[in-house]
Amino acid sequence: STTPVTLLGLGAMGTAMARTWLAAGYPLTVWNRTAARAEPLAAEGAKVAATAAEAVAASRLVVVCLLDDASVGEALADADLAGKDVVNLTSGSPAQARARAEWARERGARFLDGGIMAIPPMIGVPDSGGYVFYSGSGELFQEHGTALTVPTGATYVGENPGHAALLDVALLSAMYGMFAGVEHAFALVRKEEGIAPKEFAPLLVGWLTAMSGAVHGIAEQLESGDYTTGVASNLAMIVAGNPTLLATAEEQGVSTELLAPYLTLMERLLAEGHGDEGTAGVVDLLTR
Ligand code: NDP
Repeated sequence: STTPVTLLGLGAMGTAMARTWLAAGYPLTVWNRTAARAEPLAAEGAKVAATAAEAVAASRLVVVCLLDDASVGEALADADLAGKDVVNLTSGSPAQARARAEWARERGARFLDGGIMAIPPMIGVPDSGGYVFYSGSGELFQEHGTALTVPTGATYVGENPGHAALLDVALLSAMYGMFAGVEHAFALVRKEEGIAPKEFAPLLVGWLTAMSGAVHGIAEQLESGDYTTGVASNLAMIVAGNPTLLATAEEQGVSTELLAPYLTLMERLLAEGHGDEGTAGVVDLLTR
């Protein structure tokens, strides 16, 4: 038999998730601030609650997928959470997740925070590569793991309720760094005769894929504290190339506002005497 699920929030993500529980035969109660967004789901078999409090009352397992942390507090202000298992998939900072865990505990609920590493089209698609980081109550995760893995994969990362949000933001931040590099690269070739974006794209993908192995090397160095081990390209050589990167941007009429901050950090590291190391020391510069 399947666990009843309550879902608060029928935005792009909530709606995609709702459909997977309905398709899998879970009794589903939904609520959305703007009631019209629940209508298509009602036609597909969801029970629609008139208020968030009524939706919470319908199931022990309460999944929340709203815009931001403030909307969670607002939506659940007068819901009775005693004895509930609250799973918060709303994006927020680690501190917000820890405060929300404490807030839920004070109201008598078990709490699990989630960071969704997927976009709506990946939800309900087997082997999409999407998953949700979960942290907080391990008991809750044990008990409801089956229901929670219906929309997409699930990775439990421990009792500290802030860790799902932290890992989510860390991966997102790395992705933005990658997008920044990719967009700078497209800008460099944009005005050039004979290098079309679609011809350039596979070259970028191939290079980024080949270079992704460097992540393991940096991890190894951060753990050993020896930033010279396994360094194929040292900082002295890398920084010697910086003027070429800047000159090329200028020749191509491209702003260096994305690239320059990173080059500056590498130059500072070199100036501090780390020429025989790789770039892992940038992590120290950012955290000291
Ligand atoms: P949408 O913008 O599509 O939906 C936002 C939802 O929040 C709507 O249901 C909206 O209700 C509700 N909402 C906003 N403010 C309030 C409030 N004050 N009180 C009650 N409800 C409110 O967002 P998504 O569904 O895409 O995202 C939901 C969460 O999932 C976000 O935290 C997002 O960061 C996260 N996420 C989304 C991803 C994506 O690619 N979409 C990927 C990973 C995470 P109403 O319909 O009334 O406006």
